[in-house]
Amino acid sequence: MIVPFHVMSMLARLRERFDATAVAERLRTKEHQVNRLRPSRKADEPSANRFWERIFAEGHATQADRDTLLDPQSLQTIEAYGANIENMIGTVKLPVGIIGPLRVNGLNAAGDYLVPLATTEAALVASYARGADVTARAGGISAALTYEGVLRTPAFRFHTTADTGLFIDWVVQQAETLKEVAESTTRHGKLISLEPAMDNDVCFLLCRYKTGDASGQNMVTIATSAVCEHIAAHSPVKLAAWYVEGNYSGDKKGSYLGLLTGRGAKVTASATIPAEMVSRKLHCSVEDMLAYARIANLGSLLSGQLGSQAHYANALAALFIATGQDAACVAESAVGFTRMEAHDGNLFVSVTLPNLLVGTVGGGTGLPSQSAGLRILGLQGAGKRDALAEVAAALCLCGEISIVAAMASGDFAKAHQRYARQR
Ligand code: NAP
Repeated sequence: MIVPFHVMSMLARLRERFDATAVAERLRTKEHQVNRLRPSRKADEPSANRFWERIFAEGHATQADRDTLLDPQSLQTIEAYGANIENMIGTVKLPVGIIGPLRVNGLNAAGDYLVPLATTEAALVASYARGADVTARAGGISAALTYEGVLRTPAFRFHTTADTGLFIDWVVQQAETLKEVAESTTRHGKLISLEPAMDNDVCFLLCRYKTGDASGQNMVTIATSAVCEHIAAHSPVKLAAWYVEGNYSGDKKGSYLGLLTGRGAKVTASATIPAEMVSRKLHCSVEDMLAYARIANLGSLLSGQLGSQAHYANALAALFIATGQDAACVAESAVGFTRMEAHDGNLFVSVTLPNLLVGTVGGGTGLPSQSAGLRILGLQGAGKRDALAEVAAALCLCGEISIVAAMASGDFAKAHQRYARQR
């Protein structure tokens, strides 16, 4: 018999706190009056103060809380945030650690990088620092951006399946015109492919773009919106409805489509660590590393992960926050494959990330501390996006090496205890 202990303990906790009437009362729909926060697109002191007055009125936060979020530096630069946030009340301070050199022998990234990582997770920076140190001493990390293409996937609904077919027949002949329409909205975005996917009375149009040095999510939305407007105005087949995104593109979620065809930059990175260095720096043998890597791959398979890797999300979340990337895009970016093998007795490690969404212009990359993060890397501005993508993949590789070594040597829990519990 299966005994669902978690369900039983949850029920016991509920019974301790409520009887059935109290539960019903708590869950009951309450009054319909809403004293909503009046939205503001202005990032300035008067607007922030207006929100703080309301926060104080709720009675939980103190003046000290206000002064922490809306500190003098945030106030001084508040207008820089206007295009990045609504209802601004200040900035959150995150600790930023630095690691390096991260030695990358890439097609686009070449040399030693100091990498800022913003996180509140103890042991994370130390772990990436160890991976960077080992790979740099081993001669560096080879990295190559092999493909790029950011997807937007509008959906068109028709009255019949036959109409969908007729629409597809028409729309594929419009490819050149639709490319012109899309590219009229941007100087840097290029529509590189257009692929219909049919589901009876619905057609998804997979629009794939190159986005220059921007991560491109806004760019592809604006361009695809123009494409949809053009289609709606010119389609000889009557549309029942259309939507600029049919939730097919994998935006902000891991997907099989992204895994197979990529969304953003596809990057691969690898390093070979001499056996002697594995034992001296990682405190285990190559065989210990491979034995754990096999278990970790089995765990990925049995649990049905998209891809197979240990913790790309740690590297990417910390790098994304430090450099003004859209942190929610860790959802699709942190998907991929890690491979560990013995090559002539040494440890070969490779990572491949098919969906890396990073930019060195646009989005949050121009904000005060985020642009400082990019400058530390030497990767701010035009012409640097591909290098940043390779650096991100190389960073993920360092994390895979370090965590597998920590597991293989039995040091994982000890390291976290050492770093996180000595407050
Ligand atoms: P963006 O800041 O909206 O656009 C990039 C801007 O940089 C464009 O105006 C572009 O000009 C300009 N630019 C200048 N030099 C460039 C260069 N060398 N390469 C490329 N562009 C250059 O940023 P985005 O990357 O398109 O979008 C990222 C933001 O979108 C993130 O903040 C993310 O949170 C947000 N987002 C939006 C959606 C959405 O559906 N709207 C979804 C998810 C995330 P041109 O346009 O003339 O080329």
